[in-house]
Amino acid sequence: MQRKSLRAIPSVDKVLRELTDIDLPRAAVVAVVRRELGEVRAARKPLDADAVMRQIRESLSNLARAKIQPVINGTGILIHTNLGRCPLGEEVVQTLSQIASNYNNLEYDLIGGKRSGRAAYLEHNLAVLCGAQAATVVNNNAAALVLILHRFVSDNRREVVISRGELIQIGGGFRIPEILQASGAILREIGTTNKTSIADYSRAINKQTALILKVHRSNFFMSGFVESADTAQIAALTKAKRIPFVEDLGSGATVQTERVEGLEHEPTPAEVLRQGVDLVCFSGDKLMGGPQAGIIAGKAKMIAALKREPFFRALRCDKLILAALQATVDLHLRGQEKNSSFHESGIPALEMLSIAEDQLTARGHAIAARCADLPATLALAEGNVQIGGGTLPQSTLRSIVLTIVPRAIALEEFAARLRNATPGIIGYVSGGKFKLDLRTIFPRQDAAVANALRDALAPDSP
Ligand SMILES: *Cc1c(COP(=O)(O)O)cnc(C)c1O
Repeated sequence: MQRKSLRAIPSVDKVLRELTDIDLPRAAVVAVVRRELGEVRAARKPLDADAVMRQIRESLSNLARAKIQPVINGTGILIHTNLGRCPLGEEVVQTLSQIASNYNNLEYDLIGGKRSGRAAYLEHNLAVLCGAQAATVVNNNAAALVLILHRFVSDNRREVVISRGELIQIGGGFRIPEILQASGAILREIGTTNKTSIADYSRAINKQTALILKVHRSNFFMSGFVESADTAQIAALTKAKRIPFVEDLGSGATVQTERVEGLEHEPTPAEVLRQGVDLVCFSGDKLMGGPQAGIIAGKAKMIAALKREPFFRALRCDKLILAALQATVDLHLRGQEKNSSFHESGIPALEMLSIAEDQLTARGHAIAARCADLPATLALAEGNVQIGGGTLPQSTLRSIVLTIVPRAIALEEFAARLRNATPGIIGYVSGGKFKLDLRTIFPRQDAAVANALRDALAPDSP
């Protein structure tokens, strides 16, 4: 029995001849086939050739789905870290593509004809956007924070003063206290979870103080019996004591978010620097709507010192990121100049924030109409968009969701079919209905959504 079943296991070559339809590099397919056949052999359980082929195909399909690929975001979470945070706008992508496919002056001075520093234009314009003396860029905001700590924490000055109300976890296991400790800093926690006063800061400062860190509570909010020291007050104190004052702004809106009805005001880098903070850091791919990056802006001397750190080299961005960020920053500056509305900003995150509800409703009706003949109940309902990405926790923006209740299949099965479409569609289940939020779906994706709904609901669907 065992011998027979082992003999029934097909050879790698034979299997490969049956897999000509698989659109993956051959070496990757061979590796999967070898692994699967090896497992079948090791398991020593009789499997017929069809079952072996099914297993191999499933394994190949799992591999193919793990490839980074476009998806349609129907979650209503605008800055969705699992879905790549912010999509880039067309102009940004064009710049990116031009820089990527050509040589460029990344570190070359076109006037002098010799080597130069990187990203001088971007740093200049970033500083302008942030109302700062200078600015620079690293891989992400976590790296920005690490670099700042690396620069200012030394053997003689190891203490970083931070309010207990700001010792937060941001997501993906990123905890402020752990970053501080990993950087060799000693946490000097002050105040309580809900109250920290200027006197707490004043008492904590001593000869070992490396810097004062303020962390914007970007992913939650506290209300009730709450007090925190005013940024301007802390700035006056740190100036008198000659201690660097750094604020991690997290989401870093460079626009006035309250211009969108329903959104609270998010402090901007310019505002915080005006209040006397020496350095501010924030993400490029949260409310700024650009590529993943960590932006540091503030005092020119401090920025120059950060850039001189040998460690800076390990955190620097590549040309693609710099190109995309450069284009994003220019879009923000042009938007300010024209005081234009968010929906003509060229920045998809801002455009999505500002789409009018009646437009969402019209699109929803059109998609539902295309599925009217299918065994499901489709309707439009009110939804709430979350900004996400640890941003604007108090704000919810009204939105429109398409709700779908299939008659022939379970919600979970339906959701799985949509995820399996190309491009995959991600929605959510709530109140016994499957929901797609139209605000985070691009209008150009509506046809793909309707087609995928039709396929998933069709009675003879797999
Ligand atoms: C999101 C966030 C970070 C991490 O930023 P990344 O760019 O994801 O590294 C750090 N601090 C705060 C307050 C944040 O909200």
